[in-house]
This record gives sequence, C-alpha cells and structure tokens, in this order.
Amino acid sequence: MSKRDYYDVLGVAKGASADEIKAAYRKMALKYHPDRNPDNKEAEEKFKEAAQAYEILSDQQKRSQYDQFGHSGPEMGGMGGHGGMGGMNMDDIFENFGDIFGSMFNGGQQRARRNGPEPKNGHDLAQSITITLKEAYLGLKKEIGYYHFVSCEVCSGKGAKSGSSAKACGTCKGMGQMQYRQGFFMYSQTCSTCSGDGFVITDPCDTCNGKSRVQKYDKLTVTIPAGIYDEAELRLAGKGDAGIFGGRPGDLYIKIGILSDKKFHREGDDLVSNLMLTYPQLVLGCQVEIESIDGTKQLLKVPKGSPVGEKLIIPGKGFENLRRKGFRGNLVIITQCHIPKKIPADAKKMLTEYSKIIGTDAQDGGIVSFFKKFLG
Ligand SMILES: [Zn+2]
Ligand SMILES: [Zn+2]
Repeated sequence: MSKRDYYDVLGVAKGASADEIKAAYRKMALKYHPDRNPDNKEAEEKFKEAAQAYEILSDQQKRSQYDQFGHSGPEMGGMGGHGGMGGMNMDDIFENFGDIFGSMFNGGQQRARRNGPEPKNGHDLAQSITITLKEAYLGLKKEIGYYHFVSCEVCSGKGAKSGSSAKACGTCKGMGQMQYRQGFFMYSQTCSTCSGDGFVITDPCDTCNGKSRVQKYDKLTVTIPAGIYDEAELRLAGKGDAGIFGGRPGDLYIKIGILSDKKFHREGDDLVSNLMLTYPQLVLGCQVEIESIDGTKQLLKVPKGSPVGEKLIIPGKGFENLRRKGFRGNLVIITQCHIPKKIPADAKKMLTEYSKIIGTDAQDGGIVSFFKKFLG
C-alpha cells in the first residue's frame, strides 16, 4: 500500500511549525476519533494515518529524516522504533499522544490533583410563604422554620478531629477518578476509595462524620416589605446551606404567594375595589363612607350622574411601590349599581311612574306592547 505524504495527511505545508502540526493533528484526531466514529473502519484508518504522520512530524529528528528520505528513511516503515508505522495500533497511539486526547476528551472533567478537601459552595434553598392581600399591603414580619446545613462547630468545618487532617487519596492520587483504557476507548471512573473526593479523612470528626457540616432546624424572621407582589422572591443572603470545607454558603429564597381577597384586588400598584350604589345615588350623587383594606375609613364623594364602572380615585392610598420608596399607587373605587330583586309596593309605583315620565314602558308585558306597537 503506497503511503500518503505525511504533510498531506495532516493538511499542513512542508514548512509548518510544530504548533501548526500539533493543531492540525488535534483537528484530525478529533474528527476521526473512534469514540466519535464507532464501528467506522475508514475513520479508524484515517485516525491511525494521522497519528503516524504526527509521530514523525512532531519529532524533530524523524521529521528531518522524513524530509530527506521520505517514507524510505531509516526510521520509517518497519525499520525499528515502534515496529513500523503500519504496525502501530490504537493502544500505541493513545500511549504516545495521550496528552492530546487527554486535553480533548477529558478536558471538561479532568480534575486537578488535590491534597485535601476543596471548598464547595453551599446550595441555595427555597421556602414559600403565603400571605393575605392585606398583609401584602401593610408588610409584615413572619417567622419561618426550615432545615439547612450549617458548618460543624466542633471541627470548625474541617471534618477532621483536632490534631488530624484530611489527606490526598492514595488510590487515585488525589484525582478523584481512575482512568483506564479498554481497546481504544478511554474511561474514567469515580474512585471508590474516596468516592471521587480525591481526599480521605482518616480520623473524622464525630459530630459531622467528616462531612464538615451538620443539618439543623433554624427559625428565621422574614421581613416582608409593604407592597410585595405575588410570586416575588426575597433573597436572604447566606441563609441557605453552609459551604463545605470553607466554601461560601448558599442563599435562602423566599417565594411569596398572595391569597386573593373577596373585596380588593391589585392592579399595578393600585388597590381596586367595587362600590355598590343604588340607582338614585348614582344619578343624584352622594357621599359614602368607605373602608379600605387596612380598615381605615374615609368619606368618598360620588359625583351626580356617575355611570356604572366609573373609577373614583383616592390618590396615594394604594400599594407602596417596592422600587420607588415613598411612592404609592391609588385606591381605585369602581362604581356598581345595586339592582334589587324586590322593592316595596310604593317604591315600585313610583319607579313605574318615573319610567313613564322618561318614556320607557317598564310594565310587565313590556315586550308584548313593544311588538304591538311596532308590528301589530
Ligand atoms: Zn480516591
Ligand atoms: Zn465536624
């Protein structure tokens, strides 16, 4: 089988620098790597071919021989070294250029060697609090209880008894994982001695069992500001799980749920409520006493001739704006008309009279007379 020119194989120029050759090989190896091309004979051949080319071109001495003598040079094909390029198998390739694959295929998971525990940040935690609309309007303090991890006080979060300390795991040499090769696949497995931690604590603290933290039930008073809105999240910095081995603690998020109210609802920062009035009140105008969500009472003037659905605004009596301190929405009162199912006989008589005066015929059978008038 005639061999392709090594420079052609890697797609580089004759005068390519060592870095260019390495980069070209990485690219080829990545493309034809058997892990990415399972059961693909052609890719495997290309992969081997690139490795052969790289073995020669990455070695200053071999490269100059190749440049002078081509494939028939003394160290080429079958003359020694690795028992010939053609005989180079996958194991040899990984053995020789493992660093290149290491950084390509395990780069993300490759862990630094450790001599002791690595600080890990604690998790954020979440709790929900349900409050009434009135509480959201006024703001409140609410006590909650929750479990979280706190740093072990006995060992100061070190996990080891006083006088002892954590040591690098002997099995994995502090890597946390064991790497091995099977055929041309590379595997890494969590170290079973240290469970992937990379260190072992031979004399663990009795209180936290070497875990650096213990679980604790804590109570906390949460200040919920006036004007809080539904589904808002309050962040209590550092109140989540404590960090491990000196890591930063997580935060505690409080999610606010607001119950709907029978009389009031919120629109933006406005507090909105309906006000039931009688027809004469709307027509003639009136002054009524209204009670807001916080129980405060005040007089409201309903102008004469107010239609149903009119918005009467009491400025600055709505929700506090969370972002603009001192800013408040309005209390918005929407007029409604109360329609009685039954009215006293004399009232009915007068209403009928009124109806006649304004030219509507509201008598029972009004529809019939309507049809009589227009169709009959
Ligand atoms: Zn280990
Ligand atoms: Zn401890």
